[in-house]
Amino acid sequence: MCSPSAFECTLCESLNFALVGSPLNTRSSISNRRRRQFAGLLSALVLANAGSGCSKPERSQPNVLLITVDTLRADRLGTYGFNLETSPAIDRLAARGVVFERAIAGASFTSGSHASIMTSRYTREHTIGYMNGGTRLEGITTVAEIFNREGYQTAAFVGNIMLNRSIGLDRGFEVYDDELPHAELNRGFAFERIAEQTTESALLWLNNRDHRPFFLWVHYQDPHGPYTPPPEFRGRFRPEFKPNEKPLPILDAVTGLNGIPSYQELDGIRRPSVYETRYAEEIAYADHWIGELISQVDANPSDSGTIVVFTADHGESLGEENLYFSHGSTTTPDQAHVPLIIRAPGLPEGRRIETVHHVDVMPTLLDLVGFEVPADTSGIALGPIIRGDSPLPDRLVYCDEGFDLSAYGPGGFVRVGDILAAWNSGETNRLPMMAPRWAAYRWAPGEDWQVVDEINASSKTAIRSYFRQAIPMVEAEKPSHLRVERLRALGYAE
Ligand SMILES: [Zn+2]
Repeated sequence: MCSPSAFECTLCESLNFALVGSPLNTRSSISNRRRRQFAGLLSALVLANAGSGCSKPERSQPNVLLITVDTLRADRLGTYGFNLETSPAIDRLAARGVVFERAIAGASFTSGSHASIMTSRYTREHTIGYMNGGTRLEGITTVAEIFNREGYQTAAFVGNIMLNRSIGLDRGFEVYDDELPHAELNRGFAFERIAEQTTESALLWLNNRDHRPFFLWVHYQDPHGPYTPPPEFRGRFRPEFKPNEKPLPILDAVTGLNGIPSYQELDGIRRPSVYETRYAEEIAYADHWIGELISQVDANPSDSGTIVVFTADHGESLGEENLYFSHGSTTTPDQAHVPLIIRAPGLPEGRRIETVHHVDVMPTLLDLVGFEVPADTSGIALGPIIRGDSPLPDRLVYCDEGFDLSAYGPGGFVRVGDILAAWNSGETNRLPMMAPRWAAYRWAPGEDWQVVDEINASSKTAIRSYFRQAIPMVEAEKPSHLRVERLRALGYAE
């Protein structure tokens, strides 16, 4: 079967012409003999087309595997310094790739940060904006559309309802698998897909694809709360009780401020260290299946190799500023600092300390395969920087969730807005208003952030110019009653 992009190739244009412009469609003006001749021509074209895979002319291009993990803090992975063995497979990938130690998420919620990954635009530059689930992506070219247009076979497998096709991230994917068959342990009306099922679906597609190079996006939901690792991973780590650790109240709300969010409650457990341990076990479980996916891809190498990009959509607060087991509220490093690992043929391995961002993923991938990077992207291609061909330009990068925005640069970040003040004032409609609070922090991965006295004037000007942009959000289709129930279960809808 032809993909939409197939009509760009000569054979497909011929086939399209034969179907639409020939007398074949004019039954009254064609004899049976002529009809048989056209039928023969069509058969020949279809056979020739099947041989070509309906793609652009043959050429050697690397495959691309993009892995995103939901709610994964960089500092919970071994390669980022964690002391538990949560990530042997991801660490193996890191050992063969480039590890970015200071990678920042586009947003601290799922749909916005994935939109930044797929379009190279910040929160205020794409139509999903700061809403999680209420808006959809429109009018901006996605990286999947470019790969598909250039002859790649494209597929996506996602595990979070916030990534369902109604938000528009399915654009450019020939296959967009958003089946969520699994009900959470404690709430039968909340659906997701766990790593084993996601991996099996992706591998089934991989083993039945055609000969075109592929662009495959696989999203793993598992570290997202509630933290319910399967039995074979539960108990893998022992909780490390902290000195003076106090039990937390279980909240009615989903915020996680000073307590355990309602959607996270596990069997009445109130000790934060137990939740942290379960979170680590969820990461270990996802890591196991990520390892399976990567090894299956590597077991079937193509002549041009495979580019693997690994990142997370955002992190998770584990007590920072009294926020527990939640995200989507602040833009500080607990929620903004994500892993970013790139393994690509010819790219030197190593570790990098430059501040990079989700918006860099799309230009990096396009540049690595030799495609033109659209001029209106907000990120930069990291390949030339890794190879030493060019330096990283001076810039600020933004983690932005509406009320709360942080601009990250070398050595620290400037935070504008205050979600806690917004909550305390009773403001809950998530308007993109910035509370009049500016604060600058020194920060390095693995360290607490510290307030510093001065905010650079040019940084202030750049940040103001960013957050004053109109947000061109496009309303998504109204969610069904069932979908609203699922969103509420995941902590996204009040
Ligand atoms: Zn997420």
